[in-house]
Amino acid sequence: MSLFDKFEPIAKARRELAEADIAPFGVVTERILSATEGIIDGRRTILAGTNNYLGLTFDPRCIEAAAAAVREQGTGTTGSRMANGTYGDHVALERELAAFYDCPAAIVFSTGYLANLAMLSTLAGAGDVILLDADCHASIYDGCRMSDAEIIRFRHNDAEDLAKRLRRLGSRAENALVLVEGIYSMLGDLAPLADIVAVKREYGAYLLVDEAHSVGVLGNRGQGLVEATGMLEETDFIIGTFSKSLAGIGGFAVSRLPELELSRFAMRPYVFTASPSPATIAATRTALAILRDGVDLRERLWANGRHLYHGLQRLGFRLGPEHSPVVAAIMDSPQQAMACWKQLTEHGVYVNLVLPPGAPNGASLLRCSVSAAHTSEQIEAIVQAFASLSE
Ligand code: PMP
Repeated sequence: MSLFDKFEPIAKARRELAEADIAPFGVVTERILSATEGIIDGRRTILAGTNNYLGLTFDPRCIEAAAAAVREQGTGTTGSRMANGTYGDHVALERELAAFYDCPAAIVFSTGYLANLAMLSTLAGAGDVILLDADCHASIYDGCRMSDAEIIRFRHNDAEDLAKRLRRLGSRAENALVLVEGIYSMLGDLAPLADIVAVKREYGAYLLVDEAHSVGVLGNRGQGLVEATGMLEETDFIIGTFSKSLAGIGGFAVSRLPELELSRFAMRPYVFTASPSPATIAATRTALAILRDGVDLRERLWANGRHLYHGLQRLGFRLGPEHSPVVAAIMDSPQQAMACWKQLTEHGVYVNLVLPPGAPNGASLLRCSVSAAHTSEQIEAIVQAFASLSE
């Protein structure tokens, strides 16, 4: 017996990957050339799995803001927000996020993962109920596990199933917290937010939307699905990340409920970790301003998403139910997915390989995410790399 016996399934999966001569998890980008290209395994590679939706990682304004912050404020805060880790810029970013959503309350976290852990473990306590969409991200599941609430899953994107489960709760439904995402990270499909809102309103529940993949991507101002569907005022809490369209690292929560502020110091994943570095906060503040005015970026992003989705559809790949900047080809088996992933890398295209249990319904995916920074030639090169798979 050893502590490590329980990792045998991982060891087996690693052996299989080694036999297939691939190492998809922990790919090393030896040099990063731009928001859309890097050197991987010595090869110039188009990056089509980075969630860098607006391509802002190399925006000179963000780089300059980060560089100035490092020079002026140092490399790290070396402390939690509750202790020495709150600088003026953290507070300024919270104010800007609150203003961006016309909300009275905003909290910045060190990652989006921590934002979910903090919010879910703190908002819902013993005796409360959380109802989450079955396809929600791991950070949402983990946040639920950290809370003492009862956890109920409802069928993905199925407002009727949600209603059925809320009905069964009787008066407890009024304190229930419903969790959905804006754009779902694996298949790129959108939540039917108007339907979900109608149900939550009928039962008096609270609604939290994780807009990790939809901030900057949806809506005229880039607020996400809440804006695109006109549901901002009906949504109680919004979670987001800085690690995708905002091109940094960190997370946030905003709420139309000013009471959110009360929960700040009860959130262990806020209190017991260091705050984001000055460079991160400065780059994010600049990226947020660009994102807000980024109608052109969003147009290019969606044009690229359409191009890739329809290109792969024409080639006969089975895809998620609708086009968006996340385009996932659903493969027949993990083995096929692994073999195709390897061929794509040999063609100089990096996408995310997703093996069970990473995707809904045990699917194996070649998951692509496009960026506003991809040229149409790059998108066509990605399509051509997929075309070579069927040869
Ligand atoms: N929520 C969702 C839906 C996500 O997809 C992710 C990251 N992939 C997160 C939260 C966590 O974000 P972060 O990378 O900032 O920890």
